[in-house]
Amino acid sequence: MSTVNSFVKDNVEYYQLYIACPICLREGRPSVPAYWHHSLDGYDMYIGDNGYYYCKECGYTAPIIEWAYICADCKKNGHEKAVKLDDLKHVGEALAISGMVNSTGAGLKWLARVTNALIQQCEE
Ligand SMILES: [Zn+2]
Ligand SMILES: [Zn+2]
Repeated sequence: MSTVNSFVKDNVEYYQLYIACPICLREGRPSVPAYWHHSLDGYDMYIGDNGYYYCKECGYTAPIIEWAYICADCKKNGHEKAVKLDDLKHVGEALAISGMVNSTGAGLKWLARVTNALIQQCEE
């Protein structure tokens, strides 16, 4: 079992982000879970059950729908810049298949809260 950092801030439960690449999933490539880092400073990213990503180092936070992603396989497949999603179902898929629920101890209720927040962001 890996130990993943988690914390609660302002009643939001954050876990270190450990997911497959949503862009690779969208484009049909296999993707294994990995830790993600903030492109601006390289520090660990966290995901809160309010549907926001959060960089513990610099404090930057924003709704998940506003973020873009790029991984080594994205680059191999022609992406030069991080890719934004207009639909969060691939983030939901990444969360569901990546083991955050079990291996990080985040749990199904946490996943359900994140999923509800993602649905709301897509509807706004
Ligand atoms: Zn940062
Ligand atoms: Zn990718």
